Amino acid sequence: MLRNCFALSRFEPMEKILNFINGDLLAPISNQFLDNVNPATGEVYSHCPDSDERDVELAYAAAESAFLGWSEMPATDRSKILLKIAKLIEERNDELALAESIDQGKPLWLAKLGEIPRAQSNIHFFATAIEHFASESHAMGNHAINYTLRTPIGVVGCISPWNLPLYLFTWKIAPALAAGNCVVAKPSEITPMTAYLFSKICKDAGLPKGVLNIVHGMGPKVGSALVAHEKITTISFTGGTKTGAEIARIAAPMFKKLSLELGGKNPNIVFADCDFEKTVKESVRASFTNQGEICLCGSRIYVERSIYERFKIAFVEQVAALSVGDPLTDTTKVGAIVSKLHFDKVLSYIELAKEEGGHILTGGKAKLMDGRCANGFFIEPTVIEGLGHLCRTNQEEIFGPVVTLQPFDTEEEVLEMANSTPYGLACTVFTENLTKAHRVSSKVKSGIVWVNCWLLRDLRTPFGGVKQSGVGREGGWEALRFFTETKNVCVKY
Ligand code: NAD
Repeated sequence: MLRNCFALSRFEPMEKILNFINGDLLAPISNQFLDNVNPATGEVYSHCPDSDERDVELAYAAAESAFLGWSEMPATDRSKILLKIAKLIEERNDELALAESIDQGKPLWLAKLGEIPRAQSNIHFFATAIEHFASESHAMGNHAINYTLRTPIGVVGCISPWNLPLYLFTWKIAPALAAGNCVVAKPSEITPMTAYLFSKICKDAGLPKGVLNIVHGMGPKVGSALVAHEKITTISFTGGTKTGAEIARIAAPMFKKLSLELGGKNPNIVFADCDFEKTVKESVRASFTNQGEICLCGSRIYVERSIYERFKIAFVEQVAALSVGDPLTDTTKVGAIVSKLHFDKVLSYIELAKEEGGHILTGGKAKLMDGRCANGFFIEPTVIEGLGHLCRTNQEEIFGPVVTLQPFDTEEEVLEMANSTPYGLACTVFTENLTKAHRVSSKVKSGIVWVNCWLLRDLRTPFGGVKQSGVGREGGWEALRFFTETKNVCVKY
């Protein structure tokens, strides 16, 4: 199976990943590399640059000297280059999907049908959006006019996580580049492969040298060097809340512009008047897609008491039937957990849930595998009940294939439980009562609410969280506004 996949693709494993600086693929100045592990096998299969602030400085210098040319290029010309990049992603979908699946542990079919096409859409969307991006004017009667200029900022920093590597990497760099900025980007050191393949795509598409620079390496070395760089005035970050707080601490005294997309602990609210079969199916998808390693996954499922037992039986039956296994096998629904460290963290939360009085309904342990995946990091999809909404299991982000079930009696009670965590990223509501759907949506404290669906995305809509789930919004005009400097000009007649 594995050999067939490689034969079908141009992707070569055991490759030494390189930085992308000023249009060249370069080893880090230190010439040190980190092991890159395939989570499905536990084996080191490639090496990622262990870059430091010297590489960031080199990347900054390249970006800075490319800025004038790129920012002054007509938007239509920038758009054409980005569209070429989007086209190449589409053409190399299979190669990128295989690389993403091996690097991250997600099922190959999911990378092929979901993540890589979405990375292509991200670039395509902002390449075309920039041609329609406009700003406002405000006439003051007949004696003056204000107009607002939105201009590229300069060199911006983009830092992305490991769960949806190319998807979230392109979600940031696409609006940054479309708006005319030059970028120094840092992908996660845990999943660097598709960003590396993307740098080759940029070369092939003719992206001018220095416009996008990718520096691989550890967060506290490369990421913090980017954040602390005095000339990089804008940082777009997606990752954990703790890292976001550290970035904000360093950036605040330098008055940097920050976009922070952070953790979540999303409630999934199921009312008794829902479309039962659809709700169960969608709740399973919302809980376990990508091994539950999506910031938007529902992890606390609140079910109205009158249907609690029925929902529990149907939900657990479908979860227990999910096949956990080799990410490269077509029938696999749940692949490998991204790293040994994260695997241990998720298992420790299952132990915590038991200590807190939780009862495991299905799953609850590592999944032992045979053959090539015998040393991989697999966890059975786990459903827990019997916990209060304020315990640590229900308050802290687990970010794995673990969900809890709790009954509720009233709308007020479920809103109180849903809003009880420090997070506020996304919420899912299932009901056939339209008035209730609108009322609950307005009262839930989160940046995103899905009614009778999950992860249905329109790239024009604002995306982001409240409370400790983040600051600012990505998507559509919000992203293009973030990546531009705003100036008002007032002209008196
Ligand atoms: P992380 O915070 O550990 O790392 C994210 C990125 O930041 C990585 O590239 C990492 O190298 C870098 N980094 C680490 N320390 C840094 C520092 N001190 N300075 C600068 N950069 C640093 O997060 P992760 O474990 O890669 O990703 C999982 C987290 O991301 C979860 O909490 C998840 O909810 C969150 N996430 C949020 C969204 C969203 O849109 N809100 C999307 C995906 C993931």
